Amino acid sequence: MTVTVRFAPSPTGYIHIGNARTALFNWLFAEKHGGRFVQRFDDTDVARSKQEYVDGILADLEWLGIRPDRVEYQSRRFAAYDAAIEKLKAEGLLYPCYETPEELELRRKIRLSRRLPPVYGREALKLTDAEKKALEAEGRKPHWRFLLPNFAKSPFETERTEIHWDDVVRGRETVDLASLSDPVLVRADGTYLYTPTSVVDDIDMGITHVIRGDDHVTNTGVQIALFRALGSEPPAFGHHNLLTAASGEGLSKRSGALSIRGLREAGLEPMAVASLAVLIGTSESVSAMRSMEELAAHFDPAATSRSASKFDPDELKVLNRALLHEMEFGDVRERLAALGIESAKAEPFWLAVRGNLDIFADVARWWRIVQDGPADKSGLPADDLEFVRSAFGLLPPEPWDGSTFRSWTDRVKETTGRKGRPLFAPLRLALTGLSSGPELADLMPLMGREGILARRP
Ligand code: GLU
Repeated sequence: MTVTVRFAPSPTGYIHIGNARTALFNWLFAEKHGGRFVQRFDDTDVARSKQEYVDGILADLEWLGIRPDRVEYQSRRFAAYDAAIEKLKAEGLLYPCYETPEELELRRKIRLSRRLPPVYGREALKLTDAEKKALEAEGRKPHWRFLLPNFAKSPFETERTEIHWDDVVRGRETVDLASLSDPVLVRADGTYLYTPTSVVDDIDMGITHVIRGDDHVTNTGVQIALFRALGSEPPAFGHHNLLTAASGEGLSKRSGALSIRGLREAGLEPMAVASLAVLIGTSESVSAMRSMEELAAHFDPAATSRSASKFDPDELKVLNRALLHEMEFGDVRERLAALGIESAKAEPFWLAVRGNLDIFADVARWWRIVQDGPADKSGLPADDLEFVRSAFGLLPPEPWDGSTFRSWTDRVKETTGRKGRPLFAPLRLALTGLSSGPELADLMPLMGREGILARRP
């Protein structure tokens, strides 16, 4: 059996960090088991699903390092759903109901007042053919409910019916089917709800592990019953905790909060985003993983907490910096070249500045400083002007290396009598225009004698 997982968003918005968590849990699970990853778009809601979001989600997954083995669209699979629905109807497992939402709400209240569980009482199952015809003659269209297997003899005498599964994240889980209403699978307008289409797809696509957010735990009880009603053994399930914004509010595709696209546009590294999306809310300590392989080695679905986890964008910045600070030149050579940074200086330049980057794009600013000097020379205090000018007069001849700065500033110290901050701060300001940054000893050989003299205030 080849492990086969799927990520099944509806393309009604761009995916956010919480969706990425689901996608990555699936991807890493497949990676660990030599499995396959199916990208499924739950796009049966044609009014809200958009091609723009399909493309956006695929691009976001690719950026994160997820390359689906197969892409499927529910909107192309109606024939399969129709066949399953007909089969259930023919077996009497799907029955027509005619209640309006108001009628259902009233009944729910009555049940609650009688201290009965507020589940659907299967009243529609008692309708005779003549009664159904009469309701249809009134213009009512039926919606269809799945008869849950939670009774022995009579559907009106339900019994505790436990459905169990060994959740790959949460461990042993139990849902009592007698505590649930028969779920509606087909709406009055003939459209299908997510439950049957998802189960039919999971069967047809050979899904072996359904890994998703823990908002689906109850659905899983129903879906397991539906797998069996359709003659299939259910797959394994895993439900991970959800991420919330720092305010504790849930993330939603529609609000665009913390979208992967937004994080990408903010210049963050995909492995910083992936590391946090996966490791937050687990017993693993959160740190930046350099590659998907490394992340897979730290990924243990069973180590995931049961409660929701707060996602803090500042933590993302910390991980991003940590990743950049350790990145080897070989890993960024092409990205630097794309910014026009490709001379023999590129490698020493990268090693000099990487420790000062918040996001990769910051290299462009440092490259400008190294090549052209500070954008603005006016920042040097008047009392330092003479000092800096005499220091520039003491620049040693080339060739320069990593020790040149030391020998230069030793001479400046002897000659001017300045030391410590009053010596170094004005030199840094004159060379870079900034009060902090990479080691000047590393920058100096990159700037060169001529380059530095051009910075003379
Ligand atoms: N489209 C469903 C959702 O986004 C899929 C849930 C599942 O993975 O089964 O919630």
